[in-house]
Amino acid sequence: MGSGGQPFSVSGQTALVTGARTGIGRAAALALADAGADLILWGRTQEGLAELAEEIRGRGRTASTVAADLADTEAVRALATDLAAMHRIDLLVNNAGTIRRADAVDTSWSDWRHVLNVDLDAAFVLARTFGERMLERGAGRIVNVASVLSFQGGVRVPAYAAAKHALAGLTKALANEWASGGVNVNAVAPGYVATDNTDALRADPDRSRAILDRIPAGRWARPEDIAGAIVFLCSPAADYVHGHVLAVDGGWLAR
Ligand code: NAP
Repeated sequence: MGSGGQPFSVSGQTALVTGARTGIGRAAALALADAGADLILWGRTQEGLAELAEEIRGRGRTASTVAADLADTEAVRALATDLAAMHRIDLLVNNAGTIRRADAVDTSWSDWRHVLNVDLDAAFVLARTFGERMLERGAGRIVNVASVLSFQGGVRVPAYAAAKHALAGLTKALANEWASGGVNVNAVAPGYVATDNTDALRADPDRSRAILDRIPAGRWARPEDIAGAIVFLCSPAADYVHGHVLAVDGGWLAR
């Protein structure tokens, strides 16, 4: 076990977190910094990233910021290629994601493509680019942020459910190929987390009540609830964990 026998330390590692500005990504970046990692924060734009980088530096780690729209596959590929040439990225957290809420018959082709681009294609491009370097070094961790909708169809979110199912499949496919090369690929599957992503659900009293009634833990998740599982999957404690999709859902899927 690495990191001086401290199973949950990621000291000396550099982590790239997408969607770091808000919600789960922000909590994951801070938790990884507290566990010893230096951070590269990826946003759609630079907005809000400087403050987070400052907060991470205040906790004694280094932090830099980069920006590219994950819907723009060529821009993602170009930035990732540059980053891979400049930095040794040990930990990749494919956290950024987007959602479009509409019945399937009302889902436009452009909304479908947008969700698939951001939630699936970008994760593959980043995993492929950084994973190749990790394999050359014989070490690395990739954590994809999936969803309980990697297992369920959800309500009025067909593109999102399809993308998150595919992300779970990609996690397993990459783990099959890369585990023997020292690269761990896993995912976390959050349940219902109080972030911008779920504002519309919490604003609807009926949906909000229905969701809460189904969560055995009796509360929505906080972003920090998900961050702990991400740190675990990045840490030496998870050395032998490959291709797993770890639900962090207050018991939602158990019901
Ligand atoms: P959030 O606060 O809305 O965060 C989403 C992040 O993704 C934002 O930082 C956003 O950046 C980034 N993002 C969205 N579209 C992007 C694009 N085109 N290019 C670059 N970045 C983009 O919501 P969250 O709940 O923390 O979501 C994080 C992940 O958790 C997502 O993959 C989501 O699907 C997943 N998840 C969330 C829940 C939940 O209940 N909240 C449940 C299961 C899974 P900007 O703000 O700059 O656009």
